[in-house]
Amino acid sequence: MSDCLFCRIASGEIPARKIHEDDDIVAFHDINPVAPIHFLVIPKRHIASMADVTDGDAEVLGKLMAQVGKLAREQGCTDGFRTIINTGRVGRQEVYHLHVHVLGGEEVLPAMLKR
Ligand code: AMP
Ligand code: ZN
Repeated sequence: MSDCLFCRIASGEIPARKIHEDDDIVAFHDINPVAPIHFLVIPKRHIASMADVTDGDAEVLGKLMAQVGKLAREQGCTDGFRTIINTGRVGRQEVYHLHVHVLGGEEVLPAMLKR
């Protein structure tokens, strides 16, 4: 049994509101959304963060990226969305299993970062 929260969601051991699952990836609604549409896309394989990605992960992560636009549209992002990958301490990552946040909805998101 893994002690990684998102590995446990990927295996089905912990429930989540899944919107997509295939052999390599899972997408599910964020439990604490910060936009009208906010879901996460993760590789099933445990990769701790973007800083830990290696050449061997390229195929799975390519498949992950290839799903994002379709999933965003299906969830109602008809006029764009934002993707965020927080990495490590400086990136304020909280869950150390690589995940792509997808944020959208009617609300116009604030500019990326305050200067
Ligand atoms: P990050 O700060 O990029 O590591 O983001 C972690 C995200 O995971 C946060 O937006 C949390 O709300 C979300 N999260 C934490 N636990 C769960 C869970 N059990 N199901 C869905 N989302 C979760
Ligand atoms: Zn994991």
